[in-house]
Amino acid sequence: MSIYTSKQQEIAQQIDHQEVSLSNWKDWRWQLKNSIRRVETFEQLLGLSFEAEERAAIDETLEKFPLAITPYYLSLIDTDDFRNDPVFRQSFPDPAELVVSCHDMSDPLHEDRDSPVAGITHRYPDRVLFHVSNVCSMYCRHCTRKRKVGDVDYVPGKTSMQAGIDYIRRTPVIRDVLLSGGDPLMLEDEQLDWLLTELDAIDHVQVVRIGTRMPVVLPYRITDKLVAMLKKHQPLWINTHFNHPREMTTSAKMALRMLADAGIPLGNQSVLLAGVNDCPRIIKSLVHKLVANRVRPYYLYQCDMAEGLSHFRTPVGKGIEIMESLIGHTSGFSVPTYVIDAPGGGGKIPLTPNYLISLSTNKVVLRNYEGVITTYQEPESYKAYFCRRDCDSCELQLNLKDAEEFRSTGIETLLSDFDPAIALTPENNQRMERRHHD
Ligand SMILES: *Cc1c(COP(=O)(O)O)cnc(C)c1O
Repeated sequence: MSIYTSKQQEIAQQIDHQEVSLSNWKDWRWQLKNSIRRVETFEQLLGLSFEAEERAAIDETLEKFPLAITPYYLSLIDTDDFRNDPVFRQSFPDPAELVVSCHDMSDPLHEDRDSPVAGITHRYPDRVLFHVSNVCSMYCRHCTRKRKVGDVDYVPGKTSMQAGIDYIRRTPVIRDVLLSGGDPLMLEDEQLDWLLTELDAIDHVQVVRIGTRMPVVLPYRITDKLVAMLKKHQPLWINTHFNHPREMTTSAKMALRMLADAGIPLGNQSVLLAGVNDCPRIIKSLVHKLVANRVRPYYLYQCDMAEGLSHFRTPVGKGIEIMESLIGHTSGFSVPTYVIDAPGGGGKIPLTPNYLISLSTNKVVLRNYEGVITTYQEPESYKAYFCRRDCDSCELQLNLKDAEEFRSTGIETLLSDFDPAIALTPENNQRMERRHHD
């Protein structure tokens, strides 16, 4: 099995103007140092050239959203048909990025607003997003944090991370910390080791997750030394970001194998991107490759309404169509959850085709993936009991030590017996305002 293709050797030789050994190519620092940041280098290495007019439009785009591609990721571009190439489209600037529609937002997820201290987004009750790096080895053109890409003034050190760690330490409801960025694996092993050790020392932090695209764009970052260090910090989960089956190369597979062999559970978050993977067959092939390499498809994201991404957005119907082609048709663990990250900070909202057709008190009518309409008979003997959250007198055994939470929120409240709420009504509801005047 060759993991150093002739095309990769050619690219490496042009970069170093000499014979470059496999060990150089596989050195992640060499890859970063030689990351492609200029259009000329791109043209030269792939033997392409853009017409003057297009070139001017590309240059204008780069002024707002810079370019960075690792030589490894560049080597995956099929030069014969590069304009349709999924790797090219994810990594090379498109003048359409400058088109800002009236619906686009610079921070659609309100990550900066839901931030109690620098670097932390605390949106959900029990977990936080911790931005520990503002840099990436490759700048994805579809980045939802595009507004920050290429900011040079934020190079996080221990002091800037300390504020985040302190917040997590003094906030006992946080049981899950998601390291994000940028790419957290841009940190040096020692710095990451220090950060993970700090988090391990916080009792209420039960799990740490790392979101990284390194296995996709720079698999050589997954070194024996890194894996040995990560292994010390279990339970640690890693979520990566494959978008197209073509990204699953021999080098990527090796990186995934090293992580999985270290006992790290692996997940994948894909983004549904027009012109890249908006096809049921492509997504099916992708999820199959992922599970074959011990990666569980976790989320399929609807593309955010961030500025500069409109050309990547698909209708939601495309995502539902893809889900329809997966559910039931393939292994349950190959099916990701399709989500929209709600603009304004509402968090991730799962979307799925409808399988519930109707119901009475006795029967439920359902349809399956084949279109078969079927029924489920409701139980005749179920004793519906009135729950007052008086767990001490309940026959169901619940060890209260781990379940002290009492407040219910949202739809859960409507379903509960112990809360008198019969409806959730938004604030500023005009009908309600009129009522007060009666
Ligand atoms: C996605 C996200 C999380 C993690 O969500 P999960 O559904 O638990 O994976 C946490 N915080 C923020 C701000 C997020 O965007």
